[in-house]
Amino acid sequence: MAELSALQQPYYEATTLQQIEQLFPVRLSKELLSDFKFDHPVLKQYLPDARELINPDGYGEDPVGDREATSAGGLLKKYQHRALLITTNTCPVHCRYCFRKDYPYSRETPNQHRYETALAAVKKDHSLNEIILSGGDPLSLDDDLLSYLFTSLAAIEHIQTVRVHTKFPSIYPRRVTDALLSILATTRLNTVVVLHINHPDEITPSVKYAAEQIKHTNTTTLNQAVLLRDVNDATDTLAELSHRLFSAGILPYYLHLLDKARGTHHFHVERARAEIIMQQLKQRLPGYLVPKLAQELSGHASKDY
Ligand SMILES: *Cc1c(COP(=O)(O)O)cnc(C)c1O
Repeated sequence: MAELSALQQPYYEATTLQQIEQLFPVRLSKELLSDFKFDHPVLKQYLPDARELINPDGYGEDPVGDREATSAGGLLKKYQHRALLITTNTCPVHCRYCFRKDYPYSRETPNQHRYETALAAVKKDHSLNEIILSGGDPLSLDDDLLSYLFTSLAAIEHIQTVRVHTKFPSIYPRRVTDALLSILATTRLNTVVVLHINHPDEITPSVKYAAEQIKHTNTTTLNQAVLLRDVNDATDTLAELSHRLFSAGILPYYLHLLDKARGTHHFHVERARAEIIMQQLKQRLPGYLVPKLAQELSGHASKDY
């Protein structure tokens, strides 16, 4: 983890930084700090910003209604046929725009006992055919615990697909270990890995290599991005992102509008602007490289728009 002193930007008072840290600690990797200059859009996703302390109306602690949808063991069921397991409360980096920064994570530690409760609920619910491992970041779990989850899910007859939502391959590509690849390659389940890359410069040669290794396990490899002001809210940037993803064997899946979590308003992009960008992307890219614009609204039956 990076030294906080490295983040003491001259125009922040130390007390401001302390206040930000108390609300949502800063976490980013040394690699990010050495690979990107301070004002690079990639770093803006992780660096604390004094504007986090300002909350206009509509920005709150449970922006997408996760709390109501969570059941015992950390299983979230909002949509038909698929449910999401909060595997852990830990992430390799803290995205400042995180929509789960206030999720009551204290319960959701990575432990087998809790998973047993969630797995029992999955087993009982025959409407489910896909389980999404999310978090936190599920690749924060060690490979033994992941292997336990994959094996347990594969033992439930009505489950066909396991999906992993993770940022690890783009932050610490070395997390893509042989053991992890073997878990993906040997399960009877269909496997999907959804990465979270927002800017083309995040796809370094080692990230590309990690994504290719995952794909070679016969895993469908997708990407979800969030549309973020001053990070990727330009047609050129997003078109380039799609091309570079494709070169790494990854297809764009969703482009999310920002969830109105506390302390994120400075990342907001108006829907009308998002739609103009989408129109331009559709004209410039082959259909398979155009992400779907998505927004998660509490109580809606899907997030695709
Ligand atoms: C995002 C999400 C899903 C997955 O939705 P897809 O449209 O299938 O990608 C499933 N469950 C929950 C609770 C989610 O937030």
